[in-house]
Amino acid sequence: METYLGIDLGGTKLLIGELDNNGNILKYKKYTSGFFSQQSALAVIKESLDNYIQTVGWTENIPVAMGVGLIGRVDPDNGIWLQIDPARTQPIPLAKELSDIYDIPCRIDNDVKSATRAERYFGFGQISKNFIYINAGTGIAAGFVVNGRQIRGSHFNAGEVGHTQVGVNVGIQCGCGRIDCVEKIASSIGFDACARLLKDRYETQLSISDNPEDRVSVKDIFTLYEKDDPLCVHLVENASQALANLIMNLVRVSDPDTVVLGGGLVSDGFLHTKIIEKLNQTTIRFVKNGVVITKLNPVFIGLLGAGAVAMNV
Ligand SMILES: [Zn+2]
Repeated sequence: METYLGIDLGGTKLLIGELDNNGNILKYKKYTSGFFSQQSALAVIKESLDNYIQTVGWTENIPVAMGVGLIGRVDPDNGIWLQIDPARTQPIPLAKELSDIYDIPCRIDNDVKSATRAERYFGFGQISKNFIYINAGTGIAAGFVVNGRQIRGSHFNAGEVGHTQVGVNVGIQCGCGRIDCVEKIASSIGFDACARLLKDRYETQLSISDNPEDRVSVKDIFTLYEKDDPLCVHLVENASQALANLIMNLVRVSDPDTVVLGGGLVSDGFLHTKIIEKLNQTTIRFVKNGVVITKLNPVFIGLLGAGAVAMNV
């Protein structure tokens, strides 16, 4: 049996797994990655993969290829990891380095673009050639599939829709230089930033740590929303309106028949219900398959994506 090795490197965790060509995850193991530069990420991947090979091992033979999903900008054609963010720019030929070390052909791609590949190959892509995959988790980004092809752009930077304004005004500064980017309102980073900015204006039971590294719990915000906590009601209303506006704006850009939502923030369905209530029916009239949550397991969509990168689909 031919298998593929997937490596999903997120902001804090690393997931390694072996998949068959139908996207079934045969084995996997989770590692923590910590904060990293591109060079130190290579060491983290190597250390974890060595451990994986020793403790989990291959199902039968050595995988025919490996794929890595990475945060930041990636040139998948040349296997170069260009940048994590503007403050962490240290291009490295990661695909070549890994394939040299392990003697397995290696391909790499950005994490949300990898997840979009998984959606295209294993998910809604089976019934749609024109869909948008929106990932709302730690941040917000999207993958556009148009006529069956994924949009990449001139610098592999297409889909960074988290840094657009969507008509929800909080007055919050984004690291990109703009004010009220949707990512600063409707992602885990956004809930945290808005809670800190607005905590003195609305009563709340929400626990907000003095340590800025210690992010507020979005799960707690959802729970307190149900108890009519004034701050949490405001945060949830803002975030769901921001995501609904983002979706409606993007629908006007690429005319999809399906909008797929994924990522830790939407996977439990709570925000999804609130987003759907806020969509204008005229705007989304051609989205015939709906604005839906991915059917792929949100915990593993990054790993599936890395598998799809390995398969080069
Ligand atoms: Zn921004």
